[in-house]
Amino acid sequence: MSKATRMILLGPPGAGKGTQAVRLVEALGVPQISTGDLLRAARKAGTPLGLKAKAYMDAGELVPDDLVVALVEERLREADAQAGYILDGFPRTTAQAEALATRHVEIQRVINLEVPDDEVVRRLAGRRICRACGASYHVEFARTKVEGVCDRCGGETYQRADDSDEVILKRQAVYTEQTAPLIAFYRAEGNLRSVSAVGTTDDVYAAIWDALSI
Ligand code: AMP
Repeated sequence: MSKATRMILLGPPGAGKGTQAVRLVEALGVPQISTGDLLRAARKAGTPLGLKAKAYMDAGELVPDDLVVALVEERLREADAQAGYILDGFPRTTAQAEALATRHVEIQRVINLEVPDDEVVRRLAGRRICRACGASYHVEFARTKVEGVCDRCGGETYQRADDSDEVILKRQAVYTEQTAPLIAFYRAEGNLRSVSAVGTTDDVYAAIWDALSI
């Protein structure tokens, strides 16, 4: 049985989309396309898009659809995305899903990662990210060997500004209002599979792997 290589990882912030995407990249040899990472890179580089996105991101709100759709369209045209991709954090609104559908490239699988609200808060509030390579850690569940230093590349780890308690609540509300309706959108297309994102990283990965069989 072959595996889907054009897929979407759907789920609330903190569901583990980024963590699972890293493993899927290795197994499938297709790139992870994370709009959150692309936007953070644009901010770091000080591009006009990065400047526009800043206020939305800091407030936990969504960056306007037209900006994000243009960003993804450009990324999907790159050579490494022609054999497939793992979309992480996109689409996040019905308008974005509709824009993606107009490309006429079939999304073979939508993996919906399910995780309870209180678990999401615990995960996000303790999350730490490497400034240099983007690796993700947790102060309780996935500690770095040396505090504040990335195991993978030695870079400095930090807490994202939008992983503060107040902004986490806002991001959850935004997810419920604007992104959760995509579950029904993709269920109607028949390619959605829901996977429990509670359990070890290995357990969740195994469940995703099974759900990618096409
Ligand atoms: P993430 O790293 O996926 O949690 O995204 C961080 C922030 O980037 C979000 O809270 C939004 O402000 C913005 N963002 C990421 N992806 C999107 C998207 N598809 N549409 C709108 N805003 C996005």
